[in-house]
Amino acid sequence: MVRKDLSPIIIFKYYATINFMPIAKDLLKILACPKCKGDVKENRMFLVCDNCKLAYPVLENIPDMLIDDAWPLEKAKKVNFKHTLKL
Ligand SMILES: [Zn+2]
Repeated sequence: MVRKDLSPIIIFKYYATINFMPIAKDLLKILACPKCKGDVKENRMFLVCDNCKLAYPVLENIPDMLIDDAWPLEKAKKVNFKHTLKL
């Protein structure tokens, strides 16, 4: 049963959590872009560095922070920040 006091945005966030399994917030806080050491932000299945325009794929909840594995931001945008990579 859906609770009436849950706003649509909370319900959306709940389903987004199931679909994209965000990495732990504590982990996200300490992760940095290996290239510029700047902050990365989560976007669906990628961690994005806006400075470098790079998107680091997250594979089964494990971020791949290798520069060589990073996608150009434009490429990740084209697939709506979803990939089918496996570990
Ligand atoms: Zn960077």
